[in-house]
Amino acid sequence: MSSSSVELRDIHVSFGTLEVLRGVSLSVAAGETACVIGPSGSGKSTLLRATNRLQEPDSGDILLDGTSVVRSNPDKLRQRVGMVFQHFNLFPHRTVLDNIVLPLRDVRRLSRAEAEEIAMARLTEVGLAEKAPFRPAALSGGQQQRVAIARALAMDPEVMLFDEATSALDPELVKGVLDLMAGLAGRGLTLIVVTHEMGFARRVADKVVFMDQGVIVEEGPPEAVFDAPRSPRLKQFLSQVL
Ligand code: ADP
Ligand code: MG
Repeated sequence: MSSSSVELRDIHVSFGTLEVLRGVSLSVAAGETACVIGPSGSGKSTLLRATNRLQEPDSGDILLDGTSVVRSNPDKLRQRVGMVFQHFNLFPHRTVLDNIVLPLRDVRRLSRAEAEEIAMARLTEVGLAEKAPFRPAALSGGQQQRVAIARALAMDPEVMLFDEATSALDPELVKGVLDLMAGLAGRGLTLIVVTHEMGFARRVADKVVFMDQGVIVEEGPPEAVFDAPRSPRLKQFLSQVL
């Protein structure tokens, strides 16, 4: 697994007159995990979407391994920076296997046989090889999310973005997905994880980033952010979620 550093420099995003990201700068070293926390509407999803240019920033720079990718081909960028969403976004009428094979063939121009080999290896990695012939609806939410993770991993990304990957899951299914994410962190993939799972952030993050109203209010190692918050806004947020 070859991972890259990510650096965001002074990213601004507005929707009409609403400025949703008001100058966000963030550095995540290769192989590190950053967990982004903050209230609903603070701009966390927009920040992730800006990082792989699903949302084009109005201004600012994005660097992967120190090289600006803000004017590169966005499809190439999204191959290098994979993303996993709250609602899995699997194709409902395709098998689990095809959900991984089809994008692989489209994006990496592989033969069916090559793509199937990679897809099966990734499904095996997430513990779901035996689900390959089924439609997503035959799987639990947690299994579907693990398929979505396998699909992203099949592109051999250097960075993975997770946007509340466990928020839509029944409570008993959350741990399996978090364990898989922790495993990726342990293997040295660079991760940026938007999460409400404070236990995960404390355990896995190298850096916790607290966002509010379109800016990073505070960031630091988990012990600093959770045990010694400085800003009133972070203190208030933690008092509501812990
Ligand atoms: P979070 O993920 O922290 O809940 P979001 O990044 O989703 O926050 O949203 C931040 C703000 O931007 C919210 O006020 C939201 O309504 C607004 N917003 C997000 N996406 C769009 C969009 N495509 N068009 C207009 N407003 C948007
Ligand atoms: Mg969000």
